[in-house]
Amino acid sequence: MCLIDDLESVLLTDDQIQDKLREVARRIEADYAGRDVLLIGVLKGAIMVMADLARHLEMPVSIDFMAVSSYGAGTTSSGVVRIMKDLDRDIAGKHVLLVEDIVDSGLTINWLLRNLRSRQPASLDVFALLRKPEALKVDVPVRYLGFDIPSEFVVGYGLDYAERYRNLRCVGVLRPELHAG
Ligand code: 5GP
Repeated sequence: MCLIDDLESVLLTDDQIQDKLREVARRIEADYAGRDVLLIGVLKGAIMVMADLARHLEMPVSIDFMAVSSYGAGTTSSGVVRIMKDLDRDIAGKHVLLVEDIVDSGLTINWLLRNLRSRQPASLDVFALLRKPEALKVDVPVRYLGFDIPSEFVVGYGLDYAERYRNLRCVGVLRPELHAG
C-alpha cells in the first residue's frame, strides 16, 4: 500500500520543489546579505518547507514556529484566527521572513501579518511555497513565491487531509473518492 497511489495527479515533484527552494534561497541570501534572518513557520503545514528552505540557505538563520487555528467550516478559512502556540521569542527589531506552505484565500496569512507587524519587527516579508491565485480574497504581499497552482485541494509536502499525507515528498491532488470536501 503506497501513499502516492491515493493521488489523482502529481502537481509538483520532489525535484521541482527542491530546485525552486534552491533558487529562492539564493535570492534570500542576496536580499538579506549581512543581516540575521528569523524564519517563522506556521505549524504544522510549513514543517517540510521550513526544514528544506532553511537547509538550502547558506547563511545564519534562526527558526521559530507558531501554531494557529482558523475558525472556519471544514476546509474553508474564515479569517478569524486563534493562536494555539505563540513564538518563543520577541521579534522587535528582527528581520522576519514568514514561511508559509500555502496561501489560499489569503485570510490566515493576512491576519498573521497584521499580528506580527504589531510586534514591530525591523522587516517582515513572506515566502509562500504555493499560492492559489483564483482563490485569493485579499491582497497578500508574497515577496518570494514557489508556485502558483490551480484552486484544487492538494496534499503532500506538509499539507494534510485529515492529518494524513504530510509525509509525501511531492504535492498532488487527492483522488476524489478519498476526499469528502
Ligand atoms: P487561507 O486562509 O489562505 O484560505 O488558508 C490557509 C490555510 O488553509 C493553509 O495554511 C492550509 O492549512 C489550508 N489550506 C488551504 N488550501 C489547502 C489545500 O489545498 N490543501 C491543504 N491540505 N490545506 C489547504
